[in-house]
Amino acid sequence: MIANDMKNTSKIYFIIMPLIICFFTFFCNPDGFASSERHSEKPMILCSTTQIADFTRNVAGDSFEVRCVLAPGADPHTYMPTPNDAQMAVRSVMCIQNGLNLEGKNWMATLAKDAGKPIITASDGVKPLELETDGKKTSDPHAWFSPRNAAIYINNITAGLCRLDPSIKWELEARARLYLAQLRALDSWIRQTFHVIPVSKRILVTSHDAFNYFAQEFGFKNQAPVGWSTGSEIGAGMTPARFKSVVESIKSLGVKAVFVENSVNPKLMREIAREAGVKIGGELYSDSMGTEGSAGETYIGMMRENVITIVSALK
Ligand SMILES: [Zn+2]
Repeated sequence: MIANDMKNTSKIYFIIMPLIICFFTFFCNPDGFASSERHSEKPMILCSTTQIADFTRNVAGDSFEVRCVLAPGADPHTYMPTPNDAQMAVRSVMCIQNGLNLEGKNWMATLAKDAGKPIITASDGVKPLELETDGKKTSDPHAWFSPRNAAIYINNITAGLCRLDPSIKWELEARARLYLAQLRALDSWIRQTFHVIPVSKRILVTSHDAFNYFAQEFGFKNQAPVGWSTGSEIGAGMTPARFKSVVESIKSLGVKAVFVENSVNPKLMREIAREAGVKIGGELYSDSMGTEGSAGETYIGMMRENVITIVSALK
């Protein structure tokens, strides 16, 4: 009898307890089951690209929530902001963009202006390289590809965050100093690692003109068939004459491999590779870092993986 009672009591216990736990979890949490979507209490910084968001996180630490408009793999040149982006801009305390016209049609500045929020341009103070498309000269927006320019980005972001909250200036500057040391280490590692590629073989053929700063910094010749912007369709910026000249230069320079990019459709580069009789050396991270969990999910990771892909294909 007693044993039976105990059995029943323990049955009831195992039925009731989960219900009690659920009750307290749900009703004692003001956000109920929506807690996983709860917004952080911290002031939010809204960044345009994945690289800018990574730089900002490295300086902000846990003092700010850092959000990014672009998802990994998205193309900043052609992006059209959504109502959700506008809401995030309204929730933010500050916006940060790359600038140099990377954010096509100024979409990040427009989001910040419409929301009435201050905006920092991370590339301010970079000495821009010049690009020429259809006889028109523009500044090359892909400045982050030089770690020395990335250091300028970090200094601008740090100054902006310090203005937002001067009471944590010391900690923001301390994080920035550590990250700047990592950028210097990255720069010297890249130079050492490229030693195995003879200077005559340092030719980088990629989808679009993202790698000029990288090429200039590390002694590569760079050729990109579609020009500086990716356009709204595959191969926008490509002409038959340009296609022919790229194929001919690949053949005459004895290029071993060409590269596709993670933010640009690879179709055109595959056609060029086939026509020129060379292999695709791999996919490079260009205007976007990699997805969460990939080797290229940070700026340092994407630069490291790009260098390894390039060396493996061209050495
Ligand atoms: Zn680009």
